[in-house]
Amino acid sequence: LFITFEGPEGAGKSTQARLLAEWYQAKGREVVLTREPGGTELGLALRRIVLSRPMRPETEFLLYSADRAEHAATVIRPALQRGAVVLCDRWMDSSLAYQGYGRGLSLEWMQAVSQGFLGGLRPHLTFLLTLPPRLGLWRARQRRGQEPDRFEEEELAFHERVLEGFHKLAEAEPQRFVVVDVQHPPAEAVQQRLREALRERGW
Ligand code: C5P
Repeated sequence: LFITFEGPEGAGKSTQARLLAEWYQAKGREVVLTREPGGTELGLALRRIVLSRPMRPETEFLLYSADRAEHAATVIRPALQRGAVVLCDRWMDSSLAYQGYGRGLSLEWMQAVSQGFLGGLRPHLTFLLTLPPRLGLWRARQRRGQEPDRFEEEELAFHERVLEGFHKLAEAEPQRFVVVDVQHPPAEAVQQRLREALRERGW
């Protein structure tokens, strides 16, 4: 079972993924809790490069893709083959939203490039956690208590485009996406909503 978490910064994706991991572990399932960028050692190095300096959108996409290719081959596919539940904080939809809707790269081009290394690997379910970008950026900064990275410094209009992109992706594939508004409910309530969605599917 391959489940991904998507959404703007500060939506609480990693918290929700961690709580879901605990739930599956308590049921005796093997869980692989991972993230991108940075789910492998090489990925961590790529993540530092991508986050640290400005670059062409194509370059940015290809660096994320390098990370994703490595991550898919060395972490995700083997885990799925063992029958583990894989919970991944961000996946391909983040590229479509950030580099596609955000920076204007062609979705078709990105999908064609990715097909080469992802093949038929697709999440069974994607939780899209949504909140107004302004609030998300504020929450992300609070949490880190540190300087914003270069993505968080982007103008708000960029983050609005990204969020709209996520919504379009969800509308195009309603059977894969579960959209949850996280603006008001506390993390525990959001988690209950996610577990409900999984129970409904018998997962
Ligand atoms: O989710 P996390 O905060 O770890 O993501 C790191 C940064 O990478 C975020 O600021 C996000 O905007 C960016 N990102 C991106 N394109 C991706 C994945 C992440 O722009 N495909």
